Amino acid sequence: MNTIALTDSQREQLRSALELRKEQLLQELDAVQRDTLAVASAASRGQADPAGSPRDQANSMAADMVRDAEAARDHAELTAVRAALERLADGSYGECTDCGQSVGVPRLLAQPSAARCIACQSKAETQVRR
Ligand SMILES: [Zn+2]
Repeated sequence: MNTIALTDSQREQLRSALELRKEQLLQELDAVQRDTLAVASAASRGQADPAGSPRDQANSMAADMVRDAEAARDHAELTAVRAALERLADGSYGECTDCGQSVGVPRLLAQPSAARCIACQSKAETQVRR
């Protein structure tokens, strides 16, 4: 029994939302990469303070860490978005990847890349935290 009540137009709406999000994430990751390269080449050309006071180095390391964390988050979301697009293509979209029950239309509309139903998602998050 198919309990997934996504209409064709909702499915299309979610698919374009996912495609759009994928493009945004790819652009963000691309920008991060360019940013990192620009910093590296400025440093190699000696434009960055060559002596580098410890305070400046700490600041730039903190900035690097923030950028890395953002890039990691973008990567994780991109993976989720790509997986959701694959599920749309193979027809399993909307089924919880853990228990196979319907993820729920409101949840999908709120978060198109959601792979799990709310029960399995909170279970998974509890496991990660432990
Ligand atoms: Zn589930």
